[in-house]
Amino acid sequence: RLMLFHQTQPFAVTNSNTRLLISSSPPSNRVINLDHGDPRVYERFWRQTGDKSTIVIPGWQFMSYFSDGSNICWFLEAEFAREVVRLHKVVGNAVTEGRHIVVGTGSSQLFLAALYALSPNDAPQPISVVCASPYYSSYPSMTDHLKSGLYKWAGDAESFDKEGPYIELVTSPNNPDGHVRRSKVNKSQGFLVHDLAYYWPQYTPISAPADHDLTLFTVSKSTGHAGMRIGWALVKDEEVAKKMTKFIELNTIGVSKDSQVRAAKVLRAVSDSREQGNSKDSESFFKFSHKLMASRWKQLRLVVDRSGLFSLPKFSPAFCTFFNQVLEPQPAFVWLKCEGNVVDCESFLRGHNILTRSGIHFGVSPKYVRISMLDTDDNFNQFLDRLSAIQSR
Ligand code: PMP
Repeated sequence: RLMLFHQTQPFAVTNSNTRLLISSSPPSNRVINLDHGDPRVYERFWRQTGDKSTIVIPGWQFMSYFSDGSNICWFLEAEFAREVVRLHKVVGNAVTEGRHIVVGTGSSQLFLAALYALSPNDAPQPISVVCASPYYSSYPSMTDHLKSGLYKWAGDAESFDKEGPYIELVTSPNNPDGHVRRSKVNKSQGFLVHDLAYYWPQYTPISAPADHDLTLFTVSKSTGHAGMRIGWALVKDEEVAKKMTKFIELNTIGVSKDSQVRAAKVLRAVSDSREQGNSKDSESFFKFSHKLMASRWKQLRLVVDRSGLFSLPKFSPAFCTFFNQVLEPQPAFVWLKCEGNVVDCESFLRGHNILTRSGIHFGVSPKYVRISMLDTDDNFNQFLDRLSAIQSR
């Protein structure tokens, strides 16, 4: 997979079929890698923000390991915590009152911290970790990578029927298929982890502030700053927050202050851009990103509808409290199904130099693939051209 990742740079391949298939744009058969959800789509917005999203850190600053010794999460920068609370209030997507904030090196680190914190430490067997399929492809590998004695991947939540404690991951809207989700198992001894990486107005109508025991968010998908490696957890239970903090202490002795302060500045710019409206020098981030996703989805639907070769999930419009209107979901990924007799959709698209991720990594059939909608304009446009060309053959 790493090798594929490095192929995002344009490079020549000698596949004469692909060249023949492209009719409306200049011939290009470079590989388009839409396997990862790399959020390059927002770069254009951040370029125009200038000083509003820029920080300068003098050499003497942030040298200590510690941020606030009186906080459970002793490495949490107060400035970052303040902006997290403010942004959730501005967007209306999560309750922060009565919650401890734990910062992590991406929500990936917080996911592992949550598994550690929720696992009973004296159980004879590892606790089962489940998620309804199709599930985010990293959950099984992250859960089992170190063969922990505390927790173990147990697959699809729909078919989980073991007695005793378990951890259920609820991703809403879901990666890969974009649907809004609730927990599926519904037994008494379950711990829920809500992964709300995509519960932001550009992807899905905001219905109500999320009010769960343990919720994960990340800047990677909200503002698009995946490289900053900052995520946060909202945690109700003090003991769970303490154990998550302990995990991060043992893992990386805290989280980069430079990144937290940069994240604070970026979140502040997002909240300010909402509150200042759409003036000439301050465009609202969510208006920008919503419009962009809407335009991409509109173009994609046109191409897919014309094809007869592929199909897309169906979504119901819903009222969005942030935009104050009924809106359609417009997920960060396309969950595309190859119709007809194509069995392996990933291979089929790879034959057209489009790299995607097969349904098998998400616990379902290879007739499905996940395709990133967050790549650069150039890659997205090339992808659309390539897809239209396949059907016009
Ligand atoms: N959860 C989900 C559902 C995701 O899609 C991703 C990113 N692909 C993550 C967590 C990890 O995000 P981060 O960059 O914050 O580690």
